[in-house]
Amino acid sequence: MKTNCVVQLFERFMPGNRSEYDVIIAGAGMAGLSLLWQIRQSGLNDLTVLLLDQNIKSTNDRTWSFWEKTPGPLDHLVFRSWNEVRVTNSEGQELFMPLGEYHYKTIRGIDLYRFMDQQIASDPRTTRSVERMVNVVSVDDGINVQTDVGTYRGRTLFDSTYQLPLSDPNATHLLQHFLGYVIKSPKPIFNPERPDLMNFQVPHSGDCRFIYILPFSETEALVEYTLFTEKVLEESEYINVLTEWISKELGLNEYEILEQEFGVIPMSDEPVEEFPLPHVIRIGTAGGYTNPATGYTFKTTQKRVTQLVEHYKQTGNWRMKSRLREPRFDFYSSVLLDVLANRRELAAKLFWDLYRKNPIERVFRFLDGESTLIDDVQVMHSSPKIPFTRAGWGVLWRGMNR
Ligand SMILES: Cc1cc2nc3c(=O)[nH]c(=O)nc-3n(C[C@H](O)[C@H](O)[C@H](O)COP(=O)(O)OP(=O)(O)OC[C@H]3O[C@@H](n4cnc5c(N)ncnc54)[C@H](O)[C@@H]3O)c2cc1C
Repeated sequence: MKTNCVVQLFERFMPGNRSEYDVIIAGAGMAGLSLLWQIRQSGLNDLTVLLLDQNIKSTNDRTWSFWEKTPGPLDHLVFRSWNEVRVTNSEGQELFMPLGEYHYKTIRGIDLYRFMDQQIASDPRTTRSVERMVNVVSVDDGINVQTDVGTYRGRTLFDSTYQLPLSDPNATHLLQHFLGYVIKSPKPIFNPERPDLMNFQVPHSGDCRFIYILPFSETEALVEYTLFTEKVLEESEYINVLTEWISKELGLNEYEILEQEFGVIPMSDEPVEEFPLPHVIRIGTAGGYTNPATGYTFKTTQKRVTQLVEHYKQTGNWRMKSRLREPRFDFYSSVLLDVLANRRELAAKLFWDLYRKNPIERVFRFLDGESTLIDDVQVMHSSPKIPFTRAGWGVLWRGMNR
């Protein structure tokens, strides 16, 4: 009895100082922080949370862009938002696409990290620690998480650190890799009202390669050279193409590089176990939230962590029966990924036709896994029939052999 009182007093005055938690979140990146924010926003203030990351995040290591119709859970952090985008094909033809009900939004990594630092500093039931998770062991009513520093007991572990092996021979694997510069031009050259989703006026070498631009003002923009291939390039190769493109297409030879962003996103349809152990839930890229055919992950993460928290509030259980995506959307993504991997010379035309022949709202619904069957048929109708039919059969065949 006396011991209980001491424990209660200890917890009351030093709530962060314990080794048992209701929730352990491994990885304080986009998914881990979004989940923590959602837990607290939904009023689950009593849950004790341990947030582990091997690093402290203090730089703007990435920007997350996504399209959205309604305000999202992190809307207060949106750095820029646009109502129109442009796609340019290899011949220089342009498509200007007003987004209708959608907005294309950008959140800077550093803004999320700083915002969550402040939230955590004033949250007595969240403990943050810089430790590397090395092992997870299931125990009766929870899990033991071992790090390079110690062992913690949790009822539930949310793991955003798991990395897909990318070794399934019946899956398709590509990498989306890119180098981007945030540049400051001495003269106004950007239209701050319109990002470039894809500009295919770069040497292709038979691959899917394009330039992506997020304009922040008339003189400032993120300009990114992006590829969908199996292997990353030497750093100098990205730099050469990017600087040449900026010089040739933007007419800029002198500019300041304010920031740079290098990224590699796995594009793979290798199945991910979202719930690998009774008390473990993988989230973010680790949970299979990345769209295999586009690399977009941010919005699915917000949607899924919101669903998980809602489910817990209603049932007291984190494990959800409902799937991340309906199976037909996994199939479509696999087919598109297969075409991007095996008929990559078609990529520029494929995306051009997709945007040219469909209202962009339909394309967004399709990529978000929210389209109707009629939408799906219309999108398929706008795609090259023979390569897609072949890819479809290939995906079905590999699925049967899995
Ligand atoms: C440069 C870049 C730009 C991107 N842009 C977009 C975009 O515009 N739109 C979009 O939708 N998606 C984008 N993505 C894809 C995706 O949204 C991001 O990768 C996103 O950050 C994934 O969130 P996450 O939490 O799964 O992983 P992360 O944000 O990478 O977080 C994982 C965390 O786990 C930590 N960690 C790893 N291993 C361990 C361990 N053993 N122990 C403890 N901690 C560990 C890491 O330090 C990291 O902080 C981008 C990705 C990159 C790399």
